[in-house]
Amino acid sequence: MLCPRDRVCVRKSGGGGFAINSGSKFIASAPIYGAAGGLTDGGFGRFDNQLDAVFPTANGTVNWEAIYSIGYESHHELALIGKGLHQESLQRQRHAILLLPGLLRGRFPDLFDGMIIGAPAIHYGQQQVNHLFPDVVEQTIGYYPPPCELEKIMNLTIAACDSRDGTIDGVLTRSDLCQLHFNINSTIGQHFSCPAETTSENLKKHISVSYSTPAQNGTVTAQGALAASIMLDGLHTLYGKPAHIWYQPGAACSDAETQYNSDTDETSPAYDVLKEWMELGWKCYADSLQTQWPDLTDFRAAGGKIIHYHGEIRREHPDRFLGPLHYHESVRTTVYPDVSYNESTQALGDWYRLFLVVPGAAHCELNPYEANGPFPQTNIGVMIDWVENGVFPTTLNATHLAGDNVGANAQLCAFPLRPLWTNNGTTMDGVYDQASIDTWQYDFDAWSLPLY
Ligand code: CA
Repeated sequence: MLCPRDRVCVRKSGGGGFAINSGSKFIASAPIYGAAGGLTDGGFGRFDNQLDAVFPTANGTVNWEAIYSIGYESHHELALIGKGLHQESLQRQRHAILLLPGLLRGRFPDLFDGMIIGAPAIHYGQQQVNHLFPDVVEQTIGYYPPPCELEKIMNLTIAACDSRDGTIDGVLTRSDLCQLHFNINSTIGQHFSCPAETTSENLKKHISVSYSTPAQNGTVTAQGALAASIMLDGLHTLYGKPAHIWYQPGAACSDAETQYNSDTDETSPAYDVLKEWMELGWKCYADSLQTQWPDLTDFRAAGGKIIHYHGEIRREHPDRFLGPLHYHESVRTTVYPDVSYNESTQALGDWYRLFLVVPGAAHCELNPYEANGPFPQTNIGVMIDWVENGVFPTTLNATHLAGDNVGANAQLCAFPLRPLWTNNGTTMDGVYDQASIDTWQYDFDAWSLPLY
């Protein structure tokens, strides 16, 4: 790739399970900004190989070299090589902008001038096991809601909470207000109807599976509302201590979907067993994949800047929204101990900008259930302007990619400010709302150690 100017962009995996990169679709945007981009194969043999191509090793043991490679080492090396080549060609000062690092923070504090973090994977141990949580909820209460029932609850939640952000546009921008004011039991008795359908998906590129779902008709039951309510509360131990987080209200409950024609006969573990599995993953991958190191003092001292953005209504990974939000708060209390909330938030916001949230967005993309929400498209340009020209991103530039306002610009608020529209939805302000902020604060009492 040509290196027309003095910038290097490194692309980390954007989720995608075990993927070490996301192909060329993201680095292709680097030259637009006069930057160079690069990919790594992580040492997995091919650029389209994922971790599972080399993990576990043939004798069934952990391939630690591959784990540390996907954890951070391959991206460290990619950045060094990219900067070196760039310097060789231009003999100028280089800046490195890392996209979606997730796993690199806390290491190599002076390697990157800026980090653009979208939907980072944090709390690996908890995150993976958490996918099983809704299944355990359903088995524990002895009720398996039809997918159409959960979808109805989601649609009713969005409809009921849509206007709380000040504009009725089909986008639930303030899930915090929904959490405070919406009673999920109000969905009980509402009629749902879905046609028969067959869907298919590829599991890690290896196996194609399809699911057939018959036509569904019925009304939302008290048990269905109860299942959704317990899931939204997140995993608690049998003694009622919170172990982790789940979706925000209004999210599609894809993990909770029951499937018809299943020929398996497996039993689910109890809540406390899930917690034990989470702890096992945490211990096993604490220094590679857990990615919760909160002390970014050195990164800040080196002048590093962070743009962290995230979809509020996650579909695929419930805690990959709230986990990173909790991490942001952990950085605040670690770097600025014994300082008031407002003072430390102000100080952190000078170099670590959390854009909470992309209204209605899902994982790292548009949410098909709320297409009127915008999505940020110019993050590299925003970061380059911040690093090189001192243009501070008070809000984050975004664009409506679908829905009623395609092509229109939008500005996203930085946490803890939350968007609120007035004047019939024509004026958006970032408001400070303590009750809202309090809904995003978590104490994970189930653990004997801090979960940052
Ligand atoms: Ca709305």
